[in-house]
Amino acid sequence: MPLALCLECGAMKTGPAWSRCPECGYRPAGLEALTRQLALSYHYRCEEELLDLAGRFRAGEPWPADLELQEELRDWVEVALPDLPEELREAP
Ligand SMILES: [Zn+2]
Repeated sequence: MPLALCLECGAMKTGPAWSRCPECGYRPAGLEALTRQLALSYHYRCEEELLDLAGRFRAGEPWPADLELQEELRDWVEVALPDLPEELREAP
């Protein structure tokens, strides 16, 4: 099952990594947010790891620093970006 964590509130989302959060309504848009979002999804981490990260985030810890270090991931998002729906392309 596709799983991802909400960047804003740490809730577990099922479905595509870029879908809207059912708890807080946040949806990532733009290169930076989409890259970070992908790094917090089943594409990159197993379910156990996601649950662990969610628990820590909700306890007040920041997301791991590697969210911003995934150059490969960012390149991939950059290539995919023009084909994404308009509301995902631009940061609000
Ligand atoms: Zn949320």
